[in-house]
Amino acid sequence: MENWFTVEKISEDTFAISEYKHWEETHCYLIIGEQKCVLIDTGMGISNIKEITDTLTDKPIVAIPTHTHWDHIGGLKEFDEFYLHETEAPWLNGEFPLSLDYIKSLVIEIPFEQPKSFNLENYTIFQGMPKMILKDGDKIDLGNRQLKVIHTPGHSPGHICLYEADREWLYTGDLVYMDKLTAFFPTSDPVAYKQSIDKIRKLEVKKILSSHHKLEIPTSLISEVWEGFSEIEEKGKLHHGGGLFTFENFQIEI
Ligand SMILES: [Zn+2]
Ligand SMILES: [Zn+2]
Repeated sequence: MENWFTVEKISEDTFAISEYKHWEETHCYLIIGEQKCVLIDTGMGISNIKEITDTLTDKPIVAIPTHTHWDHIGGLKEFDEFYLHETEAPWLNGEFPLSLDYIKSLVIEIPFEQPKSFNLENYTIFQGMPKMILKDGDKIDLGNRQLKVIHTPGHSPGHICLYEADREWLYTGDLVYMDKLTAFFPTSDPVAYKQSIDKIRKLEVKKILSSHHKLEIPTSLISEVWEGFSEIEEKGKLHHGGGLFTFENFQIEI
């Protein structure tokens, strides 16, 4: 163990497991229920995240990536079961849409404090079959905690947010965080992104738990991002190659 991960307690039964030594500053969330746990996102796959979750719970863990970008599926290999939205299941079955060389170039961008055990040559994109295929509106019961699947395409076509209605917590993945939001990949869809923001801004949200950068995020960020996308649309630039747009708390690159 090389202290690659940082663990922060969100509540008695919720932990953020973060990769601050990499420029992407990813966060994964361990949600501990009475019967089982969900690990939302699994990180870069640079170090073994299961060694961390093993110290936090003895209960069975299902991994659920918010989408199948490399920085969310890297740890899937460590878990027996994972669930995935239907749209991106083929990506983990031979149809990953980006080249391994391109992904490797992103993985080694700096800042990146490489652990001694890391070898870029061995870096691969996880492939495997989900135990369960998720659809919009599905509910995942952990015993005393429940997560609802909200399909939020845009950043990627099978992106999901997970909503914990009892607490009014929204796990936003790469849809909303405080930094540069991206819809420039060939598989991104800027119009769908805006529609997904519209979908989540109708939810009651007391806490945003995002997949990158700052952990503490004002809930007003969702409406700020909505206004940002609306401005871009008004300029006629809500399309691929539209550009990089800078707002007070975030950027949008499309
Ligand atoms: Zn992503
Ligand atoms: Zn990401």
